[in-house]
Amino acid sequence: MSNRRNVVGDRALGMDSSITRRDFLGTTLVASGAALLDSVSPVQLLAEKAPDGGAILPSDWNGYGGVGEYADSNGNTWEVLTAGHKLRDGAYEEASRNPVETGETYDCVVVGGGISGLAAALFFLRQTGPSATCLILDNHPIFGGEAKQNDFEVDGQRLTAHQGSAIYFVQYPRSFLAQFYESIGLNEPRLEYQKWGGSGPEMTIGRTPYDSAGMSTGQYGFWFGAQFGPKPGVWQIDPVGRKFAEAPVSEATRKELLRWYSGDASKAAPFTSPKYEGDEVSRYLDSITLEEHYIRQYGLSREFIRTYLSPDLGGGSGLGADALSAYADYAFEMLHPFGGEGEAVQMFPGGNTTIARLMVKTLVPSAISGEATLNGVSLGKVNRAALDGKDSRARIRLGATAISVRHDNSPEKSEFVSVVYAAGDRLFRLRARSAVMAGGSWTTKHVVRDLPDAQSAAYSQFFRSPCMMANVALRNWRFLAKMGITGCRWFGDGLGNYLELRRMATVGDVPKTISPDSPVVLTVKVLYSYPGLSTEEQGDRGRGEMITVPFRDYERRIRQQFTDMFAQAGFAADRDIAGIILNRWGHAYLSPQPGFFFGKDGKPAPREVLRAAPFGRIVFANTDLAGAMDHRFSILEAQRAVAQLLAQVITT
Ligand SMILES: Cc1cc2nc3c(=O)[nH]c(=O)nc-3n(C[C@H](O)[C@H](O)[C@H](O)COP(=O)(O)OP(=O)(O)OC[C@H]3O[C@@H](n4cnc5c(N)ncnc54)[C@H](O)[C@@H]3O)c2cc1C
Repeated sequence: MSNRRNVVGDRALGMDSSITRRDFLGTTLVASGAALLDSVSPVQLLAEKAPDGGAILPSDWNGYGGVGEYADSNGNTWEVLTAGHKLRDGAYEEASRNPVETGETYDCVVVGGGISGLAAALFFLRQTGPSATCLILDNHPIFGGEAKQNDFEVDGQRLTAHQGSAIYFVQYPRSFLAQFYESIGLNEPRLEYQKWGGSGPEMTIGRTPYDSAGMSTGQYGFWFGAQFGPKPGVWQIDPVGRKFAEAPVSEATRKELLRWYSGDASKAAPFTSPKYEGDEVSRYLDSITLEEHYIRQYGLSREFIRTYLSPDLGGGSGLGADALSAYADYAFEMLHPFGGEGEAVQMFPGGNTTIARLMVKTLVPSAISGEATLNGVSLGKVNRAALDGKDSRARIRLGATAISVRHDNSPEKSEFVSVVYAAGDRLFRLRARSAVMAGGSWTTKHVVRDLPDAQSAAYSQFFRSPCMMANVALRNWRFLAKMGITGCRWFGDGLGNYLELRRMATVGDVPKTISPDSPVVLTVKVLYSYPGLSTEEQGDRGRGEMITVPFRDYERRIRQQFTDMFAQAGFAADRDIAGIILNRWGHAYLSPQPGFFFGKDGKPAPREVLRAAPFGRIVFANTDLAGAMDHRFSILEAQRAVAQLLAQVITT
């Protein structure tokens, strides 16, 4: 009986509809995230849970990847994750004694082909002589790190959405970052966006998935899931305008919701933000949790924060506010953008993917066909052979997981570092005069084999938390228009917390207008927070949950959730969903605990230990050193790291 109900339900949800996706096993693996620890390999977990001991295929986990150049690189794929876990578990130890010698020597090897690694290569080559060489190693099938995109083909139209890194800000015209943008061809950072093309009155649509643009015009909805009472749930459209009148909550909660979402709570208790990083206010904030700050500052209750605000607080640090330093909410603001409220925020169709592509085009012009312009890199094709061309000063080697970087001799005397990387089933070794570790804390601490105790202890205080970005392609969004909303937020057990339409920047082949008939991609950002547990435990538990659920189960939950929320407005999952891509980022966000930024108990902040000086011929980059996940910090950390190499390491 229950099976039958399930089958019927699946059909209605469109689980068997002919969306373009890979074939999956019909298995259902129930994740028990609570019991999972980071030290357990997902391979083991899935094997344990496979029915009849059968094998789970990587495609069951990766799911549909879309079309185009990013189709085999949605988030950390099974292959990337498996190599990473082998590195962590020491599974390469034996084989690494006998790698294939490539015979190559580079002036610099950069580990990590995200924005920080690409920037490090650019800085290095721009500041060294014309004969200097640089190799970037990255473990994904395509460069960009968290700045990648998904592409769908829906009814003949190409749709693009970000996998992770999304927005950028217009910088002060002559600032370092503005000049950097210009140097890669981002000369006009203010983009043009789609205009309204609907037959009805124009609806309020933002430029990014984070604007909550419809809130101020009443075109926004809050959904209270089944656990608030009525099934499948209750809508509160125009929550602030309607004063939460229809919300199925107590009077006290209604008041608290209104205080917060109307802005009255912050108006009544304005907070003087830090003026610069390290001032008294910022140090105070770093000494308490974000949850404590919201309780003290805005008079909110702990329960309210955990139910209605977490885990969105902290500038996207992934975890519950109780696990984060209060300074996490302000760290981004220290890089002041240029322009009035909202004006400075910009976003390409695929997020900061375009910035990564501009950087690659600058490093290796033949690696992307076409002109070195926004349209050029958006429409151009990646030439994989040219990326790692032997005559190029800059080379980008993909599908290569660095598993060991160590000095040939003692760090002070060594003239070279030896780099071993895994590509497929084989290990390779090469040499470099210097190395920039731009891959992130969670791998760097394993890769640098001779890392001293102080740096090792510092990295052990970097906690990164998971995030799954689910991109859902829809044939149209008439159901949202019918409800009179362009975005919504939900509370309860649902997957993720919010979604929002966006007007795309009209770069590349993006249509110039948007209407309810337009196919669109809605991004559901899934964060995992477990208030009450430590920063480390929350991250581990979330990762455990995220990596043990196969694509099909997440797909079912997404379809069910959309059906619960939107069927009443005419949405039909089997008809309206054109494709779903999951991007699983196991170590998406650095989640800074109190003391992360400015130290604790008289000890230096962990990031300062790593930033302070090179370790022999090795320097450290990646945005996580800033404690704030933002591509501008990726660039600035790369600049600092390369400056250290040139000032203190490279002598010829
Ligand atoms: C969901 C999400 C949303 C975000 N939104 C924004 C946003 O809107 N705006 C913004 O500015 N920032 C955003 N960020 C932050 C994002 O981290 C930065 O913008 C930036 O993309 C990070 O670049 P990076 O090079 O520092 O790190 P990464 O992008 O993580 O790049 C590191 C690369 O090194 C690889 N690597 C690691 N170890 C090894 C190894 N041993 N061998 C080979 N390769 C290795 C990694 O797999 C990765 O490809 C977001 C992040 C996430 C996860």
